[in-house]
Amino acid sequence: MKHNFGAGPCILPQEVFKEAAEAVLNFNGLSILEVSHRHKDFVAVMDEALDLVKKSLHVPNGYSVTFLQGGATLGFTIAALNMMREHKKAAYINTGTWASGAIKEAKKVGVNVDVVASSEDKNFTYIPKSFNVSDDADYLHFTSNNTIYGTQFKNFPKTEKPLVCDMSSDIFSKVISVENFDLIYAGAQKNLGPAGATLYIVKDDVLGKSTSPFMPTYLDLKQQVEKESMLNTPPVFSVYVSMLNLRHLLKNGGVEAQEKKNIAKAALLYNEIDSNPLFTSAVAIEDRSDMNVTFQLKDESLQAEFDVMWKAAEIVGLPGHRSTGGYRASLYNALPIESVQVLVDVMKEFTRIKG
Ligand SMILES: *Cc1c(COP(=O)(O)O)cnc(C)c1O
Repeated sequence: MKHNFGAGPCILPQEVFKEAAEAVLNFNGLSILEVSHRHKDFVAVMDEALDLVKKSLHVPNGYSVTFLQGGATLGFTIAALNMMREHKKAAYINTGTWASGAIKEAKKVGVNVDVVASSEDKNFTYIPKSFNVSDDADYLHFTSNNTIYGTQFKNFPKTEKPLVCDMSSDIFSKVISVENFDLIYAGAQKNLGPAGATLYIVKDDVLGKSTSPFMPTYLDLKQQVEKESMLNTPPVFSVYVSMLNLRHLLKNGGVEAQEKKNIAKAALLYNEIDSNPLFTSAVAIEDRSDMNVTFQLKDESLQAEFDVMWKAAEIVGLPGHRSTGGYRASLYNALPIESVQVLVDVMKEFTRIKG
């Protein structure tokens, strides 16, 4: 087996891949790919998937969960459209590419965006800690984990305003308090399941309060929630596999147990980056992501040789995002610590040879 450090679509547990493969061939006598989404067998899958999201994140009463399509990218638009209130003004924290995407899309649907904090001055290598949200902001939007740069909010922003979060790349990786949020959205393919589904967790009070003059039916969370994610054909396979993965997560101690494993994996790799003389990380130590670990060779001319070594160790998905270069090891839930150890051993061996 290869060690998949890819940033998304993500690694999932082998057991989940096997069960998913079986259901492609036989899901109660049909393929999961051909079953009607209105059939009671699939309605039961959707219900269980929604229920397992609630269970694993301890979603309180007064919140609804829905699976839509369009990825987190459409989530940028859906968030802005659904959270727009009387002022049509919102505060955004800019922590990189995805946060900037959310800002851009909010502007397109008529939100007057106030970028209240940004880490652009240092190429998004840290999380801005202080900001002021003006009284007339309808909501505050932030990106909990910055997949590309390897930064992560270790403490979520505190505000009196409704809080909206793109949690695509760290949802289900750690315990969160859903009650602090009005809206959370996340593309499935970073830690939950295959690409195709996007998860929304929304406070019921929020639904139907938008002041946007433009609200296509599909983008209206109120209608999606009322139709129980069946307003149109949902991404059947992605929801099914996400459900399997959530079953697996809960069977293995839920996000509480997973968080401990994720912390241990990240610590193992950061320790090596910090102690190995050939490597460095540009990210502020207190803001380092436990999900996406970015690092560089101090001497870039060694890159080709290092690349040969990790590839020989059956590691895949290690190059950094095309916009940042360097390396990025994504340590999503299903990546075992043994894989991290393989990478660490390669780094040590490389340094021994070079040293
Ligand atoms: C990958 C990613 C996105 C984009 O997700 P799509 O589902 O491809 O639209 C948005 N935000 C974050 C934080 C991401 O990691």
